[in-house]
Amino acid sequence: MTILLFRLDPYMGELDAAVTRAEDNFVVLDGTCFFPQGGGQAGDTGEISGSKIVDTLSDGEEICHITEGAAPFKPGQLVHGAIDWQRRYRIMRLHSASHLVYYVMQEVFGDSCRPASSGMLDDVKDRSDYLFDEPLDRGRLALVEDRVNHLIANGLPITHSLEPGSKERLLWRVAPFPAMACGGTHVRNTAEIGRVSLRRGSKPGRGRERIELTLA
Ligand SMILES: [Zn+2]
Repeated sequence: MTILLFRLDPYMGELDAAVTRAEDNFVVLDGTCFFPQGGGQAGDTGEISGSKIVDTLSDGEEICHITEGAAPFKPGQLVHGAIDWQRRYRIMRLHSASHLVYYVMQEVFGDSCRPASSGMLDDVKDRSDYLFDEPLDRGRLALVEDRVNHLIANGLPITHSLEPGSKERLLWRVAPFPAMACGGTHVRNTAEIGRVSLRRGSKPGRGRERIELTLA
């Protein structure tokens, strides 16, 4: 079982750890700050003791760091890992902004718009699909962008807590919105996000719209 250090501290960009398993092109550590692909968020990349890490995936209770070539590690070996922090920090900012967009879409479009997916997110953009009863009004989408940028500029604290009665499920919260369950990595304050842009992406299907979010 890998200890999930990114849950305790999403700002942890480096770590010292011991190898518990190494096979083919992946290495497992006793703990990691590398976020594994999941919930729509891309897996971390970086470097572990000189080996390039091209992706991070979860496999049951283990987190597999995918090496570029064969993994040159042995169980028990002590290693130093570093996430590509600039990439991860962009992901944290975009991920936090995507939650604000989710709430503001409901505010601006009301019941005619419903989330259709949890979104897909890397360090370049977040893509989230919504079900729409009527054609997307671009003027109102611009309103969503303005409102989200206003919330960001207000410097609202972002908090995390365990869902009541759960030992695992994390809740993400920014007032005045209700909490939502999310195990991804986020920034501590909306001010860290900076300005964002929203645009309509290619239409994913009838009655659906894809909204693309980027850092401005
Ligand atoms: Zn999240």
